[in-house]
Amino acid sequence: MVSNNLIPPIPVRPNINGLQALWLQEAGIDRLWGEPLLPLGGGRQGAVSAVKPGVAGPGHLAGTKESGRQAEGQAFTTARPVVSHLPSRQVQRPVPAQTPQEETPTAMVLRPDLGQLDWPGLRESVANCTRCALSEHRRHTVFGEGALPADWLFVEEAPGEQDDWHGQPFMGKAGTLFDNMLKALGLQRETVFITPLVKCRPVANIAPSKEEVASCQGFLLAQIERVRPKCIVVFGRAANLLLGSNETIEALRAQDCFINDANGQKIPVVVTYHPNHLMVAQADKARVWQDLQTALRIVRSCS
Ligand code: SF4
Repeated sequence: MVSNNLIPPIPVRPNINGLQALWLQEAGIDRLWGEPLLPLGGGRQGAVSAVKPGVAGPGHLAGTKESGRQAEGQAFTTARPVVSHLPSRQVQRPVPAQTPQEETPTAMVLRPDLGQLDWPGLRESVANCTRCALSEHRRHTVFGEGALPADWLFVEEAPGEQDDWHGQPFMGKAGTLFDNMLKALGLQRETVFITPLVKCRPVANIAPSKEEVASCQGFLLAQIERVRPKCIVVFGRAANLLLGSNETIEALRAQDCFINDANGQKIPVVVTYHPNHLMVAQADKARVWQDLQTALRIVRSCS
């Protein structure tokens, strides 16, 4: 007689839908937990329609660990909004529910000198900038690239080594993964705008200091004013810097985050993991996919 605790565990087949399979395959993953990727019913359309419609908030977390926490009665909170002095978009943006305990917004002021510049002038201002020590070791500034205006704005913390070489954001392996993420959303670099929060590469890829971020954030705010995104997707630590929050990425993912323009119009901010993180933590790809679906719903709701 065989004891129950000697019976080997029964392998569990990955439970993914067609869209998730596409996203994983585009990211170079054709097996999960030793099993080939076989979507369980439905194609791309079926997978999209399975996502609850609505704005960023608990709805997008259905079936996830977050929804479990919500079901257990742990309340979602709103991230502290950040006020930037930017002109208003003439679009109806979704307004996620607010909590009575919301904190006083932190002011982020658009530099008057940058407000006067046109797009080429802003690019030149970045290229010639020596406002902080990061200028001393850069090969190129990374202004960003993409459409102007653009519904989507993707923000990462700082340029990597390849970005510094080429003067363009999201180069190298992380860039390839990012391109696949865009492709899975039906997007490409030419139809979105991508930029780092600080435009010069920190030596050895260490996190930029608060002072360096403060020196550079005026450029990002000026870009937001001109790109006029319907949704900002922020990767990794850039979320903490942009939102002025010390919370974990996982905690920020579960919140409705915004930055506010000068007229109080809220630009939704979706926080997710950086493609660099996904290269060592592939299990988080499903979370990133959920976040991108949230951003997709926000953009569509503003169209
Ligand atoms: Fe200027 Fe920003 Fe580069 Fe610092 S990081 S030198 S503020 S462009």
